[in-house]
Amino acid sequence: MKIIQSEMYIIHQLTERAVIALIPLFNKIRSYFKQDINKKKDIGYYLRPNYKIRPNFESMRIAFVYGILGLLWILLSDDLLGRIALSAEVYRRIALYKGWGYVLFTTLLIYLLVLERLTIIKRMLRKIYENFEDLSSANEELMVLEEELRHQFDELTVHRNALSISEQRYKLAVEGADCGIWDWDIENKVYYFSPKWKDYLGYQEEEINNTFMGWIALLHPEEKKEVIRKIREYINRKEGSYEDVYRMRCKCGSYKWVLSKGKAIWNEAGRVARIAGSHTDISEQKWTEEKLNSLVYFDALTGLPNRLMFEDRLTKLIEDPSRAKHQFVLVYMDIDNFKNVNDTLGHFAGDMLLKHIADILKEQVAGPHMAARLSGDEFAVVFDHIEDRQDAAHRVKALLKHLRRPWHIQDQQFFISFSIGIVLCPEHGSSVDQLLRCADMAMYTVKKNMKDNYCFYKQEMREKNLKHIKMINELRCAIERQEFELYYQPIIDLTSGEVTSAEALIRWIHPERGMVSPMEFIPMAEETGLIYPLGAWVLETALKQKKEWEDRGYPHIKISINVSGKRVTQEEFIDEVRQLLDDLQIKCNEVQIEVTETAVMEDIRASTRILKEIKDMGVKIALDDFGTGYSSLTYLQKLPIDSVKLDRDFIKNILEDPQGSVIVESIIELTQKLNLEIVAEGIETKEQLELLKRNNCHYGQGYLFSKPVPKEGLEDLMFVRHI
Ligand code: C2E
Ligand code: MG
Ligand code: MG
Repeated sequence: MKIIQSEMYIIHQLTERAVIALIPLFNKIRSYFKQDINKKKDIGYYLRPNYKIRPNFESMRIAFVYGILGLLWILLSDDLLGRIALSAEVYRRIALYKGWGYVLFTTLLIYLLVLERLTIIKRMLRKIYENFEDLSSANEELMVLEEELRHQFDELTVHRNALSISEQRYKLAVEGADCGIWDWDIENKVYYFSPKWKDYLGYQEEEINNTFMGWIALLHPEEKKEVIRKIREYINRKEGSYEDVYRMRCKCGSYKWVLSKGKAIWNEAGRVARIAGSHTDISEQKWTEEKLNSLVYFDALTGLPNRLMFEDRLTKLIEDPSRAKHQFVLVYMDIDNFKNVNDTLGHFAGDMLLKHIADILKEQVAGPHMAARLSGDEFAVVFDHIEDRQDAAHRVKALLKHLRRPWHIQDQQFFISFSIGIVLCPEHGSSVDQLLRCADMAMYTVKKNMKDNYCFYKQEMREKNLKHIKMINELRCAIERQEFELYYQPIIDLTSGEVTSAEALIRWIHPERGMVSPMEFIPMAEETGLIYPLGAWVLETALKQKKEWEDRGYPHIKISINVSGKRVTQEEFIDEVRQLLDDLQIKCNEVQIEVTETAVMEDIRASTRILKEIKDMGVKIALDDFGTGYSSLTYLQKLPIDSVKLDRDFIKNILEDPQGSVIVESIIELTQKLNLEIVAEGIETKEQLELLKRNNCHYGQGYLFSKPVPKEGLEDLMFVRHI
C-alpha cells in the first residue's frame, strides 16, 4: 500500500511539474491562437494570393489539441480524484461523471474547432461566391465588350481593306495617269510633290524643297504673281475647285506647261487646312495650241499677224480703258497694181514683194504700234498715241519713205506705190468693223483716183458708199425685173459709108432715174458678180436680135458685143458662146466680142487662152478703148485680136493737139502693119472723120453717124449711106 502511495505521489509530482512546465507553453499557444484568431477573423487573410490551405496541418492541429487536452484530462482528473479520499461508490460515480464530462468537453472542443474551420470555410466560400458573382457579371460585361470589340474589329478590317483597295487604286491611278500629285498641308506648312512629278521635272526626290516656297521657286517669273493671286482668290472663295495653267521650271532650266487642279478643305473656323490636287503636263498641248495659234493668227507667207489677230488686237486697243486719253490711227494700205507683178513676173515674185513689204513693216512698226497683212496685197498699220491728223500724216509719210524704196527682183527695179486710207479712233469710229470699213472707203477713194497717195476718211465717202450700196441693191432688183434694154450704135465703113456692124450697148431703164449709163452700173455689176447674169443676157439678146434681123431680111451686118474682163477669164464663157451660135445658127464671123485692154490685163493668161478659143470658132475679137490703159504695143501682137477700137479720147483732140494726131496716125499705121482692122470711136465732127479717112482708118463710130439707138432705130440706119 505504501508502495502504491509513493507511486501515486511521484505521478502526482510529475503531473504537477508537467502542468507547471506546460503553463507557459499553454500561454504561448493561447496568445498565438489569440493573435491568430484576431488575424484570422478577417476573411481577407485567407483570400490572400499567397495563402495556402494545408489540410494535413489543419487536421494535425485539431488532433494535437484534442490529444493534449485528452491527455491532460486523464492525467489531471484521475490524479485529482485519487487525492480526494472518496468511497468507492463516490469514486465510481465521479469517475462516471468525469467520463461524461470528458466526452462533453471533447465534444464541445471538437465542435468549436470544427465550427471555427467550417465558419472560415463558409465565409471564404461566401466571399468566393460573391467574388464569383462579381466575376460573372464582369465576365458578362467582358463578353459584351468582347462582342463590341469584335464588331469594331470587323468594321476596322472592312475599312482597312477598303482603305488598302483605295490606296492601291490611288497608287495605280497616280502611277498610271499622266499627272503628278501635290498636297499642301497648310496647317503644318508642308508641300508635297509626288515622286512622279518631281521625276517629270527632272528632279531627284530631295532636290525639291517640300514647302510652299519650294513650289513658288519653280514657277515661271512671268506667272508667279498671277498664280499666287489665283490660289489666294480660291482659298478666300471657300467653295468650288481650284484650276490654273502655268509654267514650272525643270532641272535643265526649260519650262513645262502645267495644268494644276485641286480642292481645299476649310476647318470649322473657316481657315483653310489643306489643298491637294494634280499636276498635268500639258506642254505638248500648249505647243500644239501655239502652233495652231500661229497658223490661225499669223500670215504664213509674211509672218505678220493676219486679219483675225489684227482685229483681235484692235478690239483690245479700243476697249483699253486707258485709251480714253489718247487716240490711235489705223492705216489701210493696198499695193497699187500688185496684180501686174503677179501676172508679169509670176506668183513667186509676187510673194517676194509681199515678204519685202512685210519685212519693212516689221522693221519700222514696233510696239506699241502694230502691223498686219489683212489679205492679198492689203496691209494695215496701227499707230498708237497719235496727237492729231498732222502727226498721223507725218508717221504715214515716214513709213512710206521706206516702203517706196525701189525693189529689185530678177535684175529689174520696181517702184512700189500704195493707195492708203487713214482713220482716226475715236474720231471716225469706235468699233473694229466701223474703223476698217471707213479705212477701206478712204483707200478705195485713193485707188479710184490717182493711186499712190493717202487720204483721211471723210463723211462724204460714207454717203457715197451708202449710195453705192443702194445702187447695188437696185441693180440686183433690176436684173430680176428685167429693166434692161439693148441700144445699138452703127459702125461705119469709112470708105463706103455703109453700116458694117452694130455695137450693142446696154441701157438700164431705171423706174425713177430714167436711163442709167452703163459707165455707172457696169463696174458695180463687175464688183458684185452681177455681171455674169447681166453679160449672159446681153450676149443672148444681141445674138437673138442679129438672128431676127437676118430672118427679116436686113443686111448681114456684124454684131459687136461688149464683154467684161471677168467673163473672158471664165471657161464657161466659151461654151456659152458656142451654144448660142449653134442654137441660133449665126455665122461666127458676123459676131464680134469687144474686150478692153484693162479687162484682159486682170488675168492676161486666162483671157488670152479663152479669147483664142473663141477666135478659133471664127468669132471676131476687138480690143476696145485702145489707148486708155497700158497701151502696151506688145499686147497688140500677143492678144488674139482682129481689130482695135481707138478710144474716143484720142479722137476728141485729134485736131487741136498735133501730137495727138501723130499718135493716132502711128497707131493706124501700126495696126495695119499688124494686119489688124482699126475702128475710131467717138467721131463727132466731119473734120475728125476727114482726118481719119486721110490716115486710112477703116471704120468709124460716133455721134456724127448716130448715137446708140433702140433696135428699131438701127433698122432705119442700116440702109443709109453715112458718108
Ligand atoms: P464702149 O464699148 O467704148 O462704147 C462706146 C461708148 O461711147 C458708148 O457709151 C457710146 O455711147 C459712146 N459714144 C459713142 N460715140 C460717141 C461720141 O461720138 N461721143 C461720145 N461722147 N460718146 C460716144 P455707153 O453706151 O455709155 O457705154 C459706155 C461703156 O459701157 C462702153 O464703152 C462699154 O465699155 C460699156 N458697156 C456698154 N454696154 C455694155 C455691155 O453690154 N457690156 C459690157 N461689159 N460693157 C458695156
Ligand atoms: Mg465697146
Ligand atoms: Mg470703147
